[in-house]
Amino acid sequence: MFDAILIEKAETGQTASLTAVDESRLPEGDVTVDVAWSTLNYKDALAITGASPVVREFPMIPGIDFAGTVSASDNPAFKPGDRVVLNGWGVGEKHWGGLGGKARVKGDWLIPLPQGLTARQAMAIGTAGYTAMLCVLALERHGVTPEKGEVVVTGASGGVGSVAVALLAKLGYSVAAVTGRATEADYLTSLGAASIVDRAELTAPGRPLARERWAGGIDAVGGMVLANVLAATRYRGTVAACGLAGGMDLPTTVAPFILRGVTLAGVESVMCPKPERLEAWSRLARDLDPAKLEAMAVEVPLADVIDTAPKFLKNEVRGRLIVPVNPA
Ligand code: NAP
Repeated sequence: MFDAILIEKAETGQTASLTAVDESRLPEGDVTVDVAWSTLNYKDALAITGASPVVREFPMIPGIDFAGTVSASDNPAFKPGDRVVLNGWGVGEKHWGGLGGKARVKGDWLIPLPQGLTARQAMAIGTAGYTAMLCVLALERHGVTPEKGEVVVTGASGGVGSVAVALLAKLGYSVAAVTGRATEADYLTSLGAASIVDRAELTAPGRPLARERWAGGIDAVGGMVLANVLAATRYRGTVAACGLAGGMDLPTTVAPFILRGVTLAGVESVMCPKPERLEAWSRLARDLDPAKLEAMAVEVPLADVIDTAPKFLKNEVRGRLIVPVNPA
């Protein structure tokens, strides 16, 4: 038996509880992992609260990320004792995930724990941080270098945003951090933000083209904020869009694209091909300051996960939440 968060279908909606689960119930897969650490991302909060139809199969152990040690393997790439990390691939949505003591998955979904990172650090990064790195890689691919000028990060005090600010600052970019919480200004400055922008400046409908402010950006928010960021992106700049914390819509015009050559680069982490994942994780091990990562990590015991999840939807979470499932 192992302890897990279990989401079950109810007559109306769903229920979530901390339950002892028999190992014989684990789903199919060729690698079984003793989960050491997991984490809470925005998507996990949607799954646990049922605020959005993230869970596709019931019952479901949520948790789109885990780090742990292989206990059994029929996959030639992994053997018992190997330390591994999983992000995405529908785990925690269609296949039992990381918020439980054991997980069984396809070995193809696993990557080795990156050299230089502990399992705890890998989960402090989690899907949010790995996605922030995918966004940085997208900016680099599109030629947004530190010399081009200031870059903007929206949703800055959240998980994606915090890692994006710390990464970009370490890489030499001047970072403008957009936040709706003035109280987080010192936190964002400590992660490396050069300036703080009040989210309220970007939430009202603006002109199709605004003053050129930013050479590029990483957006975790969508909606009007992203529309205004695009309108204020400099000639031939690039904005990497990965999130919808502020809305699914995008009330923009084609003006930034056709009059300023702005690129909107979509970033998707769940099905991202393995070579790019491995590149992102090796860059995270190299380019993320461990002290800053520690400063953004908050531990949430497995027993508190269900009560903590709604805080994401109320914008009460700062940085990254990590869950000690069965740490060594
Ligand atoms: P998070 O920790 O909750 O951070 C989201 C941040 O967005 C909040 O901290 C807040 O920052 C800002 N925000 C919240 N509500 C807002 C609103 N109504 N309007 C404008 N800004 C708002 O979540 P996360 O785990 O970092 O994820 C961020 C987003 O990225 C989510 O939409 C998530 O689904 C998405 N995501 C996508 C991928 C992908 O593969 N594309 C991967 C990971 C995450 P401030 O308080 O500082 O303003």
